[in-house]
This record gives sequence, structure tokens and C-alpha cells, in this order.
Amino acid sequence: MNQKILNLINDSETIVFYCKYAPNWPVLFLTENFNYFGYSPSLLLAQQISYPDIIHPQDFSELEAQVTDAAMSDMAFLSKWVRLKKADETYVWVDIRITFERDTSGQVSHLLGKIVDVTRTVEAEEKLQLFAQVIHQTADLIKITDKAGKLIFVNQALLDKTGYTEAELLGKNPAILKSEQRDSNIIAEMWQTISAGKIYRHRLVNRCKDGTTYCEEMTISPIFNRDGEIEYYVSTGKDVTDQVKLQQTLNDLAMKDPLTNLWNRRYMTEAIETEIKILDREPSEFGVMMLDVDRFKAINDQFGHDVGDDCLICVAKLLSKTIRSTDIIGRWGGEEFLLLVRGVDAIGMARLAEKLRTKVRGYEFSKVGQVSMSIGITAYVQHEPVNALLKRADEALYLAKNNGRDRVELM
Ligand code: GH3
Ligand code: MG
Ligand code: MG
Repeated sequence: MNQKILNLINDSETIVFYCKYAPNWPVLFLTENFNYFGYSPSLLLAQQISYPDIIHPQDFSELEAQVTDAAMSDMAFLSKWVRLKKADETYVWVDIRITFERDTSGQVSHLLGKIVDVTRTVEAEEKLQLFAQVIHQTADLIKITDKAGKLIFVNQALLDKTGYTEAELLGKNPAILKSEQRDSNIIAEMWQTISAGKIYRHRLVNRCKDGTTYCEEMTISPIFNRDGEIEYYVSTGKDVTDQVKLQQTLNDLAMKDPLTNLWNRRYMTEAIETEIKILDREPSEFGVMMLDVDRFKAINDQFGHDVGDDCLICVAKLLSKTIRSTDIIGRWGGEEFLLLVRGVDAIGMARLAEKLRTKVRGYEFSKVGQVSMSIGITAYVQHEPVNALLKRADEALYLAKNNGRDRVELM
């Protein structure tokens, strides 16, 4: 029976030894499988080599100290990971587990030990630590949630960016970073995509602890377990706030009039085209208004170009303040403005035009005094081309000029 057990041990990866509790731990018994380390067990049994020769000096002195402490207490066993030098001089990590054998007076007399190679575990742990370090050091914003959507990991970059501590985020839903600008439809679409096991990419606005926001370009991927079920979700993101701002500036430069900060002619043309495409599918009231400052050349001549500029800026502000948020206003050219009016018939447009006219007329412009505008309005006729609509608005404006200026005409 004993031989059978011995054979079983020798076939296993667990090495068993028995030694005297004396300096250098003289070995009295050692299983054959110790030759796994390249040494014949007889070398230890004959005390030609001993544990202090093959266990890393620092680890052995720590182990010895622990054994001494444990032997003096009433501990039954201890275990420690140490580096063991193989016959080829390379080190492996082993787990040594020692059980104390005590004599009748309670003094430790012998050590019964078990040695298992744990190098692979140590290496795997080291690798894991390396990955964790990389994840913490990257500038990307990384978070991991469990399948229920609760945060189980956040990296340093995310903590730095949001101003939260790890404790404030772990266990919470990532919605804690939600900004009001986030759309609930988008969240639904995101969950639909990732819970179907697909990668979701999105740009969204998140909120930091102090209330400031940042724009994140985010990729969320599901992580599957061995059974192919989703276990975690990993989100990696980049802060693209500066990029988005730059893009906005470039868009503004391309689409806005630098003097008045209103939309420019190019944008207005595109806006009408878009509106017409929508209206041809879903008919609704829509019209355009052309507004031109009267005798503006005289203002320039009398007060100079800079005063003229200020006057245009002021007119633009008055018009912008008076229109509704659904209307779009732009600078069509020189001292001429264009307004797209949605959801209002010709009579409603005339009322709005009159309101704008009196607003400008009643304003006291700095240096210039009173300024008037002539306004031409026209309603969109289903399926007509953009040019026809604009030409009619222009003709209405021409009529207003011909009929004495400072007035509204409809065509
Ligand atoms: P009307 O009542 O017929 O519209 O007369 P008007 O003088 O307003 O029209 P006209 O087309 O003869 O002159 C428009 C003037 O607007 C001429 C041009 O120098 C001036 N203008 C165009 N763009 C700007 C600008 O950006 N700044 C300034 N200060 N003046 C401008
Ligand atoms: Mg004019
Ligand atoms: Mg003009």
C-alpha cells in the first residue's frame, strides 16, 4: 500500500520531503520526483547539497525566519512561495508547504513538506500585472462593467479625466457620467448593439464630477465567457473635445458670416434645399423673406465703412432676437438678409415681417440714428425649384423698394 501511495506521488507534480528541524534542514526522506529540478534525490539525502544551496538566499532566510516563528507558536503549518535553483542554474518559483511535527514536549522536531512548481502561475500573475499597468498608464479612457452594467474597473486616465475616485465609480452604472446632452434613444441603441454581442462605436458627451463636460469617442465591446455568454463590457474611449471644437470652428468658418456671425449664403442655400426636400415628402407651410437695408450706401458715405459695419452687426442682432428658434436667418450679401420661415402661412409671414420692420425702424442706431428696411416675402409652392422661390422673394423686395421702401411686400 505504501509503495502504491509513493508511486502515486512520484507520478504527480507534488514533491514530498521529510527533514529534521535542525540547521540546513537535513533531509531524511524525499520522493523520486524531486529529479524534476535536475537533482538526484540522493544528493539531498546524503547531505551533499541542502536546501540553503538551492533556495534563493533571500527567500530561504525569510522562510527560515517564518518557520522559527511558527515553530514557537502553536501553528500547524505554513506555506510560502520561494525561488528554487534548478541543476541548470535557472530559478523556478515553488510553493513550499510545511507541516510541523512536534515531540512530546511540544517542540518541533521534524518538518513534513510539499513542493509544487508555481512558475506558470507567477508568470501569469506578472503578465496580468503588466497588462494592468499598461491599462492604467494609457491615455485612453477605459472602463469595464459586468453584464448587469455595473462598473468593476476604471483606469487612471478615466479617473483623472472625470475627477471621480475609484470608490465613487465602482459598483455604479456608467450613467453616472451621463450628461444631459445624451439622448435616451442613443443609449437604447447602444445596449441593443452590445447585448447582441456586437461592437458599438459612438461619440458622446460625458460629464465630470465638477459638472464640466467632455466629448468622448467611445468603443464598447462585449467580453464572452467560455460558454460564449457575455460576461463583461469593455469601453475604451478618447477625449476628442478639442477635435470637436476645432471641427466646429472650421464649420463655422465655412458656414458663418464673420461680420454678423449669422449663417452665410452657402449655408442658407443648403438649408433651403434641405427644407424643400423634406416638404416635398411631407407638405407643410414654408416661406422665405428677403430683407434689405434702405439707402445703406448713404450711411457708409456719411459715417464711414466701420460705422456701416456696426450698423449691420446691430441689424443682425435685432433680427436674430425677434425671430423664432425654428426660423433660420443668414446674411445673403452686403446689407441684405434672408430668413427661412417654417410652419407659417403667407399671412403669418407678413405679420412677422412687419414685426421685424418696426423693430429695426424703432431702434436708435449709434451715430446713424434711424434705419429702415424693405422686406419681400413669398411662400413656397410645392415642387418648385429653389431658384424660382428666391427669384419671387427678390421680386417682392424690389416691389417694396419701388413702392417707397420701409415696407413689406408679398408675392
Ligand atoms: P437701397 O435702398 O436701394 O437698398 O439702397 P442701398 O444704398 O442700400 O443699396 P446699394 O445696393 O446701392 O448699396 C449697398 C451698399 O452696401 C453698397 C456697399 O458698399 C455696402 N456694403 C456691402 N457690404 C458691406 C459691408 O460689409 N460693410 C459695409 N459697411 N458696407 C457694405
Ligand atoms: Mg439696400
Ligand atoms: Mg442690397
